[in-house]
Amino acid sequence: MNPNILQTPIDYLKGVGPSRATLLRSELGIHTYQDLINLFPNRYLDKTKYYKINELQRNSAEVQIIGKIINIKTVAQKKGKRLVAKFIDDTGEMELVWFRGQKWIKENLKLNTPYVIFGKTKYYNGFNMPHPDMELLTEHEKNLRTVMQPIYPSTEKLSNKGITNRVMSKMMQQLFVETKVRFYDTLSSEILEELKLISKSEAVFNVHFPKNQELLAKAQYRLKFEELFYIQLQLITKKLIRKQKIKGFPFTEVGEHFNTFYKNHLPFELTNAQKRVIKEIRNDIGSSAQMNRLLQGDVGSGKTIVGLMTMLLAIDNGFQACLMAPTAILANQHYMGIQELTKDLDVNVKLLMGSSKVKERRQIHEELENGSLHILIGTHAILEDKVQFKNLGLAIIDEQHRFGVAQRAKLWHKNTYPPHILVMTATPIPRTLAMSLYGDLDISVIDELPPGRKAIKTVHRYDSNRLKVFKFIADEIQKGRQVYVVYPLIQESEVMDYKDLMDGYESIARSFPAPQYQISIVHGKMKPADKDYEMDRFVKGETQIMVATTVIEVGVNVPNASVMIIESAERFGLSQLHQLRGRVGRGAEQSFCILMTSFKLSADSKTRLETMVRTNDGFDIAEVDLKLRGPGDIMGTQQSGVLNLKIADIVRDNDILKTARHYAMKILNDDPSLSAEKNKVLLYTYQQLAKHKNIWNYIS
Ligand code: ADP
Ligand code: MG
Repeated sequence: MNPNILQTPIDYLKGVGPSRATLLRSELGIHTYQDLINLFPNRYLDKTKYYKINELQRNSAEVQIIGKIINIKTVAQKKGKRLVAKFIDDTGEMELVWFRGQKWIKENLKLNTPYVIFGKTKYYNGFNMPHPDMELLTEHEKNLRTVMQPIYPSTEKLSNKGITNRVMSKMMQQLFVETKVRFYDTLSSEILEELKLISKSEAVFNVHFPKNQELLAKAQYRLKFEELFYIQLQLITKKLIRKQKIKGFPFTEVGEHFNTFYKNHLPFELTNAQKRVIKEIRNDIGSSAQMNRLLQGDVGSGKTIVGLMTMLLAIDNGFQACLMAPTAILANQHYMGIQELTKDLDVNVKLLMGSSKVKERRQIHEELENGSLHILIGTHAILEDKVQFKNLGLAIIDEQHRFGVAQRAKLWHKNTYPPHILVMTATPIPRTLAMSLYGDLDISVIDELPPGRKAIKTVHRYDSNRLKVFKFIADEIQKGRQVYVVYPLIQESEVMDYKDLMDGYESIARSFPAPQYQISIVHGKMKPADKDYEMDRFVKGETQIMVATTVIEVGVNVPNASVMIIESAERFGLSQLHQLRGRVGRGAEQSFCILMTSFKLSADSKTRLETMVRTNDGFDIAEVDLKLRGPGDIMGTQQSGVLNLKIADIVRDNDILKTARHYAMKILNDDPSLSAEKNKVLLYTYQQLAKHKNIWNYIS
């Protein structure tokens, strides 16, 4: 057959024509026969189920009912008239309604004769069904063919213009009949056999015209697997190419700094997760390829020490390292911490920030250029062109989401080879998403907290309980603890939010009066110097309560703060709530997070709050977030566009995704260029995919 037949414009399909074609193009992006075949049903209706009238629900679902018409009449209405039939079964009665084609229907309907009706029900003083599909029961029993009826994606405009699901199904049938389309298989026989997948042709046919449940399930599995498999094949290939092409400095030595620190100065036993991650990093930087690794670990999981030990490896190999943090407060905290940890080692550590004095800067520049400065910690100031290293071998970026890609790229140009890059983040990317989007990056996960941490207790309280909450705050302060109270600040409604914050501050100031209580306040409209001053008072324990907007979200460490109150918690996203909660639970004491809301909560808000109360696990939370918001909202539309999946769903089809990734890795591992005879079909399909960005249909 003509191999290009699937490229035929959709206008040419019998029953379509120019006006329908225009709609199909604009509403569903269907331009060709091939696009139509790729329109996979959203769901299927079980036509084996018959409803009784008294079982109907007010959910306008499509149902199938057996019954008979006992009378029929024409009713006048504002514009024209409608035809109404009374339809009964042994459990009740309902109305069938027609607005079009009334004459024909009136003449042809049989009274008191069993019919099977099918359609969406509506409720208005009882149930009715507009324009039902009808079939005499005797006919219906003769031709019970398709039990699973596909329901295609549609839009309001399409259904208004009469392109109903039935019309779509008919077009699909017409296409298969007209073209007698056959597909060559896009997976190798090895994969087909091992996974017991059905053939491409059978799958495409059954996804549109399922013969039975079992075949439908097999068809869906096969097509989802294929879709995810080729994405993985692409991602992993990219990664292999990157590793071959982009050279990095091999850190082959494990030398004195690392060993002395490990043996004598490590303040605690590393967790198994930390050990594993350090091993992963060592493998990476020991090879001659550049490391580009994302280190994920929940707040408090101990990423800093992993970062430090990686920096010591750089120094052991004669290189410099830098650590960049998103805020001055954080950079300073890192500086203090790392200085303390390395005080007995022969390591020169310095801090560079926007506020650094000229004299300090001059010295830093000099030491960086002559190589005597080993570790530079700082803010964005590190990226300035004036900052030149003698031999930067490693750049660590803390809290990745505050830095753009462009900024990261800047670090690359600070040396002949790009330095190894380690990005540390406490905002976990759900595993499923990481696998589908970042399959070409290396990812390490610290999935274990240091021992002895007390899980933060989280509760949800309504605003009406505020007095009790204040009492609780007072008790905790009495015990010597400190408290955060956080208000939302969301850009569009900034004025209102700002007012909320100030009102809240005043009410707290009234309930916790000076001089017994001291309160800090920090928000985005303050000058950085004032912010730092207020923050500093809280860090030093001079104030007991910190009233703030989300500016405190990232990384601040005040171990004595054990209570986090989040106001209007329903307005925060899940990952933000989790980040905020991570500000407490850093000391030895039991910590608490109290989510305050009004009574009016949407279903999604409820789910978010329940999730926070249920779990402290950032990955668990990230997965719920992904389900609630979808990949687009989490990664930004631009990145999620990469996915553009036609049949698979990365959340629901997580297991298939894992299998697909496993096979893609296995195959590329044995045959990186896909040149083996048995992988020929994979290579061909892969190349077609790269060319047409469409893996679906290649005709045999
Ligand atoms: P994060 O991953 O949030 O950056 P940090 O690196 O700041 O976490 O570590 C949080 C706290 O846990 C620090 O006080 C650190 O010293 C401590 N810590 C890290 N690893 C361990 C460990 N293996 N055992 C005990 N305490 C640890
Ligand atoms: Mg940290």
